[in-house]
Amino acid sequence: MEFQNTLSAAQALDHQFAAQTRREDFFMPQKNGKEVIYFTGNSLGLQPKSARKYIELEMSKWEKRGVEGHFNIHEQWYDYHKMLRKPLADLVGADALEVVAMNTLTVNLHLLMASFFRPEGKRSKILMEAAAFPSDQYVAESQSSFHGLNPQENVIEFLPREGELTLRTEDMIAKIKEVGDELALVLLGGVNYYTGQFFDIEAISKAGHEVGAVVGLDLAHTVGNLPLKLHEWDIDFAAWCSYKYLNSSPGGISGIFVHNKHHQNPALPRLTGWWGYEESTRFKMKKGFVPEPNIDAWQMSNAPILLLAAHRASLEMFEEVGGVQALRKKSKVLTAFLESIILEVSQEEDYPIQIITPSDPEERGCQLSLLVRQQGRSLFEKLEAAGVIGDWREPDVIRLAPVPLYNTFEDMFNFGQMLREAIQTLSKV
Ligand SMILES: *Cc1c(COP(=O)(O)O)cnc(C)c1O
Repeated sequence: MEFQNTLSAAQALDHQFAAQTRREDFFMPQKNGKEVIYFTGNSLGLQPKSARKYIELEMSKWEKRGVEGHFNIHEQWYDYHKMLRKPLADLVGADALEVVAMNTLTVNLHLLMASFFRPEGKRSKILMEAAAFPSDQYVAESQSSFHGLNPQENVIEFLPREGELTLRTEDMIAKIKEVGDELALVLLGGVNYYTGQFFDIEAISKAGHEVGAVVGLDLAHTVGNLPLKLHEWDIDFAAWCSYKYLNSSPGGISGIFVHNKHHQNPALPRLTGWWGYEESTRFKMKKGFVPEPNIDAWQMSNAPILLLAAHRASLEMFEEVGGVQALRKKSKVLTAFLESIILEVSQEEDYPIQIITPSDPEERGCQLSLLVRQQGRSLFEKLEAAGVIGDWREPDVIRLAPVPLYNTFEDMFNFGQMLREAIQTLSKV
């Protein structure tokens, strides 16, 4: 893609992608009376203006009805989570009965691993990407210890080649084959949180299954960012959070997917709670667990309605713009536009910025990770002072995530101007 780094080019692109832009439906944070340039939708998505309305609706039911909000009213709480099934399933490419919103992400990874990480004999290893998100590393380590295995030996990693920062699919597949019949589980972030690399999930899933392993995904940085086909790709299980690209409130509710080929397997163990019990007889409150014949069997507790209400507001917006598929069209161009501006400014100002995120749009979502080895921290602080909210990772990486729902091409152009000024005021060394 060829771009012009001008305001009019940016505005023309904003016009072209107007249908995928809902900026006016979000609260944009301000600093010093000016809207910021918000690049941290990969950390906490912005507040949809409709979230308050949906939360207040539930507050008012609670106020007026107390416990009677659970049953026999419009949008009764008992079924509230079911309203979110379809939009969630559309986001991840699943059947409606393969997804449910519940708990939080790390908790869900543990619960899903209770079902799907079943080390047996020499088949015990967990394979994950190097430098996976810390919580995922702790999950893999503690699950290994929990099963009496030594985490140092049991958790192994896909490593980039010497001198490279991202992974090659052929190397990942070779690693899976190498571990072979010792491999119990591939646990992969769909998009790596640090580099922004989007893995070839389908190819990894196939390779994992060929050696007899289970394939599970952490989609925290993928859901709402890239279209997915979890069912078709034959993924065994997945979990994600909703507060990043899904804009569903800080610490908001997580979502899970379990492929329906597993739903009715009586040999599959599960940690259970009353909300996973067969719905039609749940309130007989009998001993002996009878699971729902679908994803709901993994539910444990009755649902946190206020979190679901915030989630609903955001999911509705995804549906209105034509889903993540439609957003992805804008996202590819928006990120490429930002990339071209950064590279142009870097070159013209003779200030080295290496983008470590893959340059191929098929191998990334919206995020770009910038390696800034020359006064990087100082550059970041200057950008911050100018009204850019980005993310700094020690020792030398700035992550920027232009989110198609609320970021504009004009934001990218303005950012380019700020970047140039910030570089120009760095002390010369
Ligand atoms: C954001 C993120 C988490 C956070 O986990 P919580 O349980 O929601 O705190 C975990 N894993 C990955 C890959 C993430 O990006």
